Amino acid sequence: MMNLFRSKAAFEEARNYMPGGVNSPVRSYPHMDCPPPFIASAKGSHITDIDGNTYIDYVGSWGPMILGHAHPRVISAIQKAAENSTSYGAPTVIETELAKLVTAFYPSIEKIRLVSSGTEATMSALRAARGYTGRDKILKFAGCYHGHGDSLLVKAGSGAATFGSPDSAGVTKGTAKDTVVVPYNDIDAFVKKMDDEGEEIAAVIVEPVAGNMGCVLPVDGFLETLRRETEKHGTVLIFDEVMCGFRTELHGAQGKYGIIPDMTCLGKIIGGGLPAAAYGGKRDIMNCIAPDGSVYQAGTLSGNPLAVTAGLETLQMIRTIPDFYKILEEKTKRLLGGWLDAAAEAGVAVQVHQSGSMFCLFFNDKPVLNYEDSCACDGKKFKTWFLSMLEQGIYLAPSPFETLFMSYAHSEDDLDRTISAARIAMKEAAEAK
Ligand SMILES: *Cc1c(COP(=O)(O)O)cnc(C)c1O
Repeated sequence: MMNLFRSKAAFEEARNYMPGGVNSPVRSYPHMDCPPPFIASAKGSHITDIDGNTYIDYVGSWGPMILGHAHPRVISAIQKAAENSTSYGAPTVIETELAKLVTAFYPSIEKIRLVSSGTEATMSALRAARGYTGRDKILKFAGCYHGHGDSLLVKAGSGAATFGSPDSAGVTKGTAKDTVVVPYNDIDAFVKKMDDEGEEIAAVIVEPVAGNMGCVLPVDGFLETLRRETEKHGTVLIFDEVMCGFRTELHGAQGKYGIIPDMTCLGKIIGGGLPAAAYGGKRDIMNCIAPDGSVYQAGTLSGNPLAVTAGLETLQMIRTIPDFYKILEEKTKRLLGGWLDAAAEAGVAVQVHQSGSMFCLFFNDKPVLNYEDSCACDGKKFKTWFLSMLEQGIYLAPSPFETLFMSYAHSEDDLDRTISAARIAMKEAAEAK
């Protein structure tokens, strides 16, 4: 077993002071029977823990690190910005620069507001949609994660035909009842729900490429149907591209699938590894936001100069590196090809999904189209696979419901090593009962 002695001690101490010893639940490695490695540093595609173990990292801070860790250009831009102070709480020209760049990549965004987390972006977009339409209800899809805002911590309760039930303690029934939930990729269920309740629904929010039930792609016609039905009922269509924005491709899922939403939420990559996120969309809707309109939303650290600088530098680089997205996509394809071969060799049934440099592996013998399918994956095989990969120096997300990420910094050697490790891990997974 690898040495996680210091991480184990650090975790025990942390648990005295923080719920689960962490500041975001999945970091505690729930159900993995292994302490989470406590991280000391990371560079490029490699991440090092406090016991001195170095891993090839496919978590990438859950998405932002598309250039790899500590890219010299990003770090130097942040250092330079920091010398001028770390926050002003006043307008800067770089915020306009970032707004211009993002609206150029996402033509559906006519006006944008910067915030500090994806959660804030989705919460604020919903408030804007409610203010704009004067309606209360929202519709989301089971298995889509949109941050931890109250009205979004709801999935379909059993047989909940009309009202969702809260997924978390502390969410009031009143809030949950305004959230309507439909299975992802279920075109008929969605059309029926809109026929029944469309006139009361302020917004439909969706991950156009889902990344929080594993990586699940939209079936043909799904996004088109969302666009058509929301238009018909005067409902605001919100694409939550916090994960897939700048990831499936430069123009996000909306660019890839050619669908123009009314509003878009961005996060993760837009902050280049610092806390920045954004929501934006049609001018009419965004004009409802204070101080122009009556929908209130504010932030002491919104548009923070370090976060904006890191985001700008990251976006400028990914825009100018030739074939950036093609290279990432091909590396991902090669890795998954190796994993599929390893699974076939070991006689393990798996599904692999990829959208650009987002990818995942399901221990599942049937196609995975929605949350229910994702839940049917073999948890024991997953855990064995995960622990074996970790022990071999491959850092994956400790849950089958998470997406993995390729960065520009991953080398051919990284991929070869990861594929070799997968051969061993698959054999172990095959034995798991
Ligand atoms: C990560 C994520 C969020 C939440 O962003 P935070 O910055 O963690 O608050 C929202 N939506 C999607 C699709 C995400 O992947």
